[in-house]
Amino acid sequence: MNLILLGAPGAGKGTQAREISARRGLVQLSTGEMLRAAVKAGTPVGLKAKDVMARGGLVSDAIVIGIIEDRIAEPDCAKGFILDGFPRTLQQAAALDALLGAKGKRLDAVIELKIDDSALLARVENRAREALAAGGTVRADDNAEALRTRLLAYYRETAPLIGYYFAKGNLRSIDGMADIAAVTRSIEAILAGSAAG
Ligand code: AMP
Repeated sequence: MNLILLGAPGAGKGTQAREISARRGLVQLSTGEMLRAAVKAGTPVGLKAKDVMARGGLVSDAIVIGIIEDRIAEPDCAKGFILDGFPRTLQQAAALDALLGAKGKRLDAVIELKIDDSALLARVENRAREALAAGGTVRADDNAEALRTRLLAYYRETAPLIGYYFAKGNLRSIDGMADIAAVTRSIEAILAGSAAG
């Protein structure tokens, strides 16, 4: 089973992708996490991505498509994956279609987590607080200014994907404002339906 979780920054994609991947034995593919690891390791990709990520902008399509292409080719992805944070542009969505088509794979569902924009800043601030409380570090882009840039990037570049996947027939939208367990249940209900049909 191959899924995409779509939604604004702070909508809960990462939290739900972790939960669903653990429950269903799917691989979680988070381009944000892969890019943060590259930044930390100081790889060539990390060096290119670092500043634009800290500002809240989007890393180039060529870089993220390359990362996903390599990762999807790894054997563990054969059992299925959840994309969290990719695709984020129409070019990335088209590249993903081509990539999956070439491998004879398909998307089983694209699930949109809908949330009120006014809740996003509080969620991002909360994530920063929780990271500190757990003894970790705060993401460079978890602050009000970078969030504004990330939201703009979301509405300019990523929100059109909702129409794209709706038109293709695989979009499902759920209420991302519910508590974490309820959102997981909504996703599971969709997946149960898509496995049956
Ligand atoms: P995330 O962890 O998904 O919120 O991603 C954090 C940051 O990584 C984003 O704000 C972008 O700078 C970058 N990023 C992650 N995924 C992508 C993508 N698919 N396309 C472009 N930039 C991305």
